[in-house]
Amino acid sequence: MKPETIAIHVGYDGDPTTKAVAVPIYQTIAFEFDSAEHGAALFNLEVQGNIYTRIGNPTNTVLEKRIASLEGGVEALSVSSGMAAIEYSLINIVETGSNIVSLPQLYGATYTLLAHIFPKRGITTRFSASDDPQDVEELIDDNTRAVYCESIGNPAGNVADLEGLARVAHQHGVPLIVDNTIATPILLRPIEYGADVVVHSMTKFIGGHGTSLGGMIVDSGNFPWRSYPEKYYMLNRPEIAYHGVVYVEHYGKAAYVARCRTVCQRNTGATLSPFNGFLLLQGVETLALRVERHVENARQVAEYLRDHPAVEWVNYAGFPDNPLYSMAQRYLGSQRCSLLTFGVKGGFEAGKKCFNAFHLFKRMVNMGDAKSLACHPASTTHRQLTPEEQLKVGVTPEMIRLSVGIEHIDDIVEDLSQALEQAKETTAEAVALTIGGVECR
Ligand code: PLP
Repeated sequence: MKPETIAIHVGYDGDPTTKAVAVPIYQTIAFEFDSAEHGAALFNLEVQGNIYTRIGNPTNTVLEKRIASLEGGVEALSVSSGMAAIEYSLINIVETGSNIVSLPQLYGATYTLLAHIFPKRGITTRFSASDDPQDVEELIDDNTRAVYCESIGNPAGNVADLEGLARVAHQHGVPLIVDNTIATPILLRPIEYGADVVVHSMTKFIGGHGTSLGGMIVDSGNFPWRSYPEKYYMLNRPEIAYHGVVYVEHYGKAAYVARCRTVCQRNTGATLSPFNGFLLLQGVETLALRVERHVENARQVAEYLRDHPAVEWVNYAGFPDNPLYSMAQRYLGSQRCSLLTFGVKGGFEAGKKCFNAFHLFKRMVNMGDAKSLACHPASTTHRQLTPEEQLKVGVTPEMIRLSVGIEHIDDIVEDLSQALEQAKETTAEAVALTIGGVECR
């Protein structure tokens, strides 16, 4: 099946009891056992079935199957947010004394998790000097357990060289974990380029309506965990946290995601609510259509901004003179994501005026919504980073990030036009851009 069809049908054949065509919301915490023996068999992993929603829920199972299929993976685990997906994808195989090698261009909370929170648990992250796979390779050593990147960096917009990163990671016996939130499997499927695990914030494009947090971890089933019994002993030896199961033996290709579910999620509980699972399923059904419109609207917005006299610069990977162009061309073909950044002439004060003047664009930190959204990363999503860290992850102080929505393009351009008009009227008063109380220089 093609993605458009997968997004609507995979994982659900209708409800045999009620004949419901829409996926039901199984808003229940637990599931009844037929007998003590049945319960024991479920716990012993001898039969398949539902036990308790913290471990799995039938509504969420449909979503898991659908996203796994869209990404070309063998199995997936849904969790309560994108950040939970990122944390679980790593703590499943990384522990005290080991390290992660990451590209530097990351979403702010991911950067904070890797740079400031994991080190407190004895896990270090080595950020490469650039997104060149050679720079990444230099940092990998015997204690490296994962190479991490975003397929399209938020908000830098860089498209990662997934093939190159997978090659260097695999040469050193390490999996490549890719956050595919911005690209979505409609624009890019990292597993096709060698990624071993794909994570998502479904909160964004997959949901598409700005109503529900959710995350997903997709296992490609391709990483040879058995070849590294010492390094990935947690998948190769009896698991004390789950009935002594040996994941690679019991779950085969889905060993990694099975451990995510039964150790990480079962014991720390960042579970997706079935209600959110249902809402996210509504989003998935129209993902391909929405992405098509997002992409086209963003292209027109980028062209409009580039030609506007009040705009200093536009970072859009669709312009042939943009440094991101060739990598984007290689991995996204003629399409580009709908996230772009720009700077207004007149510095911080002009930027602030433009930002404050939006009517249609909502001033907020989300992205991937049907609605057009504007964000000032330096004062919001990346605010907890120092100015040096901000530059490292691709954030400049004056940068305004747009998540171009699926409204009519004329209305989107009209809003940009009136906001930029107000910015043009900025006098030379030397006021720094202060948004959310942060002064940007
Ligand atoms: N990954 C990326 C690329 C993001 O942009 C975000 C949030 O903006 C996340 C992960 C975190 O997702 P969530 O808000 O669902 O925890």
